Amino acid sequence: MEIRKILLTEDEMPRQWYNVLSDIKMNPPLGPDGKPVSPEALAPVFPMNLIEQEVSSERWIDIPEEVLSVYNIWRPTPLVRALSLEKALGTPAKIYFKNEGVSPPGSHKPNTAVAQAYYNKEFGIKRITTETGAGQWGSALAFACSQFGIECKVFMVRISFDQKPYRKSMMAAWGSNCVASPSTETKAGRDALERDPDTPGSLGIAISEAIEATVTDETGQTRYALGSVLNHVLMHQTIIGLEAKKQMEKIGEYPDVIIGCAGGGSNFSGLSLPFVSDKLNGKQIEIYPVEPSACPTITRAPFVYDHGDTAGYTPLLPMHSLGHSFVPAPIHAGGLRYHGMAPIVSQLVSEGIMESKTVTQLEAYKAGVLFARTEGMIPAPETDHAIASVINEANKAKEEGKEKVILFNWSGHGLLDLAAYDKYFSGEMKDYILSDEEMLKSEEVFANYPKPALLKSR
Ligand SMILES: *Cc1c(COP(=O)(O)O)cnc(C)c1O
Repeated sequence: MEIRKILLTEDEMPRQWYNVLSDIKMNPPLGPDGKPVSPEALAPVFPMNLIEQEVSSERWIDIPEEVLSVYNIWRPTPLVRALSLEKALGTPAKIYFKNEGVSPPGSHKPNTAVAQAYYNKEFGIKRITTETGAGQWGSALAFACSQFGIECKVFMVRISFDQKPYRKSMMAAWGSNCVASPSTETKAGRDALERDPDTPGSLGIAISEAIEATVTDETGQTRYALGSVLNHVLMHQTIIGLEAKKQMEKIGEYPDVIIGCAGGGSNFSGLSLPFVSDKLNGKQIEIYPVEPSACPTITRAPFVYDHGDTAGYTPLLPMHSLGHSFVPAPIHAGGLRYHGMAPIVSQLVSEGIMESKTVTQLEAYKAGVLFARTEGMIPAPETDHAIASVINEANKAKEEGKEKVILFNWSGHGLLDLAAYDKYFSGEMKDYILSDEEMLKSEEVFANYPKPALLKSR
């Protein structure tokens, strides 16, 4: 019988995260004066121990025992060979995926939520505020905060708040408080409602609200947490790729192609960054972040300096951006509705080390349904985007008659997204492709900002 699932014991789980900043050069984030932001300037928003990680260029960072112990609730996660999907496609390619859907909240997100809750606790913080798109990050942070006894307040993007009531229930089960964004609780929220009372909301607006709620809290014991985009978040996610590497080594495999869906870039980076260092040292690997056609940040937007949130509270980050006031179409993959992209991913794309792909919403759901009918598990709509791209690569391998090894990240399950699957089955779901006019208009907001330098890491 062919091997289907490659497991690691708890003893074999990696004990350190990999920091890609030891291998690449980056443009610094800039403050309102156009100068690089000092770590101290971020202190009202993040605890200092996480700010230190954000700017560290140390290659390996020890994972604290307390974090390892919570990881062990579901980690190491299985590496699975998608034998039935391969068969259905008739491809000579071998398809492996890392199953990050086995965590309590059902996605990769607790890999960083647990770490962030731990470091906040260590720093004496009592309450964390955050935003959530599809509800995955909010529920992951709610779970993590409950493990460490911290209060958690979540601003959830309006459209998902309405579409996904059960994500709210999960947050309540873990003891967190969740409100729809834009809300009337913050100035950023009230301004957004004034601009458009019927707005579906966006991650950019929700981030502004969560940051504002943090810095205006008078106790001084509240901090903010971000579920993607930032360097330390991507680093916490590298546990995925480090485990995958060990698992592939066990069966004498190495990937030719690595694929992950990319909203802010964290699950994709978690799987791919540990392999990027090999690529920088000459290994041949194709590395593809996959985006929705409705929000094609890397694929179509320029590499610029822009804010990570709509109100412009965050420093200017060097990244691909559709403009901080961009409100993506209400596609049923809330985790991929973000105007920006992780600076690390943006940098690696600008150097040609990674190359983005896009798929439409309907292609994504079609792929997700094929996956469910072959491999059994029902993927999150975000994950469907990665699967659609995997299928394209597997079909290409078939045309070329090549036995490629494809590795992708199964970022989460879709058991709380079944209402969206119903829309797909009933034919109500439609595709959105961003028009050039909409794109150019949204880019006006950063026209006068500084431009990142083009750097080369190899
Ligand atoms: C949040 C989420 C994503 C997108 O976020 P990234 O930071 O790009 O990984 C993808 N898949 C799932 C299941 C998610 O919950």
